[in-house]
Amino acid sequence: MPEKKYLFTPGPTPVPPPVLAAMGEPVVHHRSPDFKPIYERCLTRLRDVCRTQRDVLLFTASGTGAFESAVANLVTPGEPHLVVSAGNFGERWAAMAGAYGAVVDHLRYAWGETPEPDDVRGRLREREARAVWIVHSETSTGVVADVQGIAAAAGEAGALVVVDAVSSLGAIPCETDAWGLDVVVSGSQKALMTPPGLGTCAVSEAAYAATGTAPRFYFDWERTRKAQAQLDAAFTPPVSLVAALDVALGLLLDEGLEAAFDRHVRLGRAARAGAKAMGLELFSPDEDRSAVVTAIRSPEGVDSGDVVRGLRDRFGMTIANGQGELNGKIFRLGHIGWFDVFDIVTMLAAVEIVLADLGAEVERGAAVTAALEAYEHQAVA
Ligand code: PLP
Repeated sequence: MPEKKYLFTPGPTPVPPPVLAAMGEPVVHHRSPDFKPIYERCLTRLRDVCRTQRDVLLFTASGTGAFESAVANLVTPGEPHLVVSAGNFGERWAAMAGAYGAVVDHLRYAWGETPEPDDVRGRLREREARAVWIVHSETSTGVVADVQGIAAAAGEAGALVVVDAVSSLGAIPCETDAWGLDVVVSGSQKALMTPPGLGTCAVSEAAYAATGTAPRFYFDWERTRKAQAQLDAAFTPPVSLVAALDVALGLLLDEGLEAAFDRHVRLGRAARAGAKAMGLELFSPDEDRSAVVTAIRSPEGVDSGDVVRGLRDRFGMTIANGQGELNGKIFRLGHIGWFDVFDIVTMLAAVEIVLADLGAEVERGAAVTAALEAYEHQAVA
């Protein structure tokens, strides 16, 4: 019997069969009529998923590459930028903006804290900034920030707002136009249910107008924007990935964004209820907004690396360890994209067995029932 593999990380995430099948279609030429309709439909669907009227730029890169496009296009060396961080990815963006010569004001929270709009407002009163850089869903901690409130604070101060929506887009509400988000960056391998390799970037007219002088070429927004407007990609796009993303976005839009958001809220509730019923302590906030990844403290005396290894070795399941200073202390259960409640139940049941094996005191048999019950109630009115 071949070993069954389960991918329960917060990215990459499981890919539905029709999306995988699209990857297996013959390769077409990117400037031929075989590709253009796929490209056009994919770009239109991306606009719908980003909830924007503007074109969404598509880059052959992971989320970090798409984010680097924002840094490369918006930074003028020597000018001030406010980077808000509360975990691994916020810290990465502070380092990246610094590497491009921005004068970085770093509003730094402890990992696991939730950034507050009023803190951003206060900071912008003290020091001006061309843009505020914020992570929507900080995958390293499970915290989801109030991006709408932070965008409002940035807008009051005349600063642009750039959002890392790599693990949030398609899982939780991210209203690009309605919330006045200038740049929204995401990647294919999370809630967009596609293999890794495509980065997306929604850009406002104000952000296009504010482009800086940092050097750039491949990631130049104007070059990509003009080419996409003609359906004539600036560089060879990964045609198979674009075809796959097109199918995945179609699946997401067929489900309906509101229905997908509702499902993610309930998946988060189920994961938290199950973990608590087992007697575990949550690291990520116990709130509906925290619907992307559930971070759980490893019980006293148990290294979370051993939990991760145990799940992999015994059950072929991949979950995530903590990152940086949280390595060994927390483990993270991803539930973004193509997940249902039985995935949550499966991961909880396996965590329970592995923790018991490792000598932790866990309540046996309670998690699955608690998770199933928590999933039942509709979340979004
Ligand atoms: N930002 C967040 C919130 C993420 O979860 C990730 C992926 O792990 C990234 C950025 C980096 O994206 P990538 O690994 O696709 O470059």
